[in-house]
Amino acid sequence: MVQYDKSNKQLLTSACIQCPDVEFTRRDKELEEIGCCSHSPTFGLGEIQHMLVWEGKEEVERQLVYREGSELSPYSVMVNAFVAPSYHKEDTRNLNQIEKADLKLSYSTCQFFVSQQGCSLSPHYKPSVCRSFICSTVENQLESADKQAMNQAAKEIRKSSNETHDRLKKLLKWYGVTLKKDRFKVYEVLIDDYIK
Ligand code: SF4
Ligand code: SF4
Repeated sequence: MVQYDKSNKQLLTSACIQCPDVEFTRRDKELEEIGCCSHSPTFGLGEIQHMLVWEGKEEVERQLVYREGSELSPYSVMVNAFVAPSYHKEDTRNLNQIEKADLKLSYSTCQFFVSQQGCSLSPHYKPSVCRSFICSTVENQLESADKQAMNQAAKEIRKSSNETHDRLKKLLKWYGVTLKKDRFKVYEVLIDDYIK
């Protein structure tokens, strides 16, 4: 039910084709059901480095930096999901922050999601959360040994991504550059590091 695609460091499940998880069900039935691709992905330095090397600086600018709702942090980029206009018809006055965020999620669509197809990104550019997350609905349908193998694989994916991110962050700190202040210098450092 869940496969570990080791070469691309990602977990895959056919369950996503017809997402069974009620937590991710749309409130507005006019919207396409897209499961957990309603969230806003954050790209770490490893993913940015891969995109730079294989697609070039212009593509990183187009795909990540200049997208509507893109938020640059010193060492990562978050691309906010689009929120359907029908969300604004909801009365959120009596909701707490968490309830409000959950409600908003059910009206959101990741900008990299393509209707009827799924994620448009190469696995090399997908954030580790996207590559390692499997919902509890799918997890609970697994035999104990498969569940253990899945959790182990998810741990490996996150560990490898975090290690790359931390190493590159240390390197950028050494150069004294950040994505917020001087991203073209960051691009050069990341490309040089990869081809060394
Ligand atoms: S991982 Fe779970 S919640 Fe996400 S799309 Fe697949 S089945 Fe749905
Ligand atoms: S980046 Fe891809 S996998 Fe991740 S939430 Fe967006 S569409 Fe889904």
